[in-house]
Amino acid sequence: MAIRIIREENDEILRKISKRVEDVDEKIKQILEDMVETMHKYDGLGLAAPQIGILKRLVVIDLYDEKGPIKMVNPVIIKQKGEQEVEEGCLSFPNQFAKIIRPSEITIEALDENGKKIKIKGTGLLAQAISHELDHLDGILFVDKIIPGTLEYVEPKNENKDNKKQ
Ligand SMILES: [Zn+2]
Repeated sequence: MAIRIIREENDEILRKISKRVEDVDEKIKQILEDMVETMHKYDGLGLAAPQIGILKRLVVIDLYDEKGPIKMVNPVIIKQKGEQEVEEGCLSFPNQFAKIIRPSEITIEALDENGKKIKIKGTGLLAQAISHELDHLDGILFVDKIIPGTLEYVEPKNENKDNKKQ
């Protein structure tokens, strides 16, 4: 296990499209483990592989509830509906927060870390996190979706602990 370096806003890798994973092998498992460790270290709700410089369709999410860290390989949205206005941040944009619109419900299919098919339906915060992380796989960032006039810069020392990043 290892903490990986998080790529930040002007890194062009964040704008690239990630490739599908062909084999869920030990190497992929290891990357997913590192992603979970890195997400926890930086107090994040989610992390996508391009954020650690790996252009593969891998996502981890942890809402720190009973669902535990969720690991997704090749996630695909099969259904989404509704809208919610949410406050959002991103581990690649430290100390920036803004309001954006996310779907209120989202269903995805993916493989887990053992290559088994999984289906996850999320509402509320989970729908927001899934939408945010899957955007990363296509080079889309939350700053692309900001409701005008809502971007805030928060000084690290004044940072509100409730503002988890994705
Ligand atoms: Zn993000």
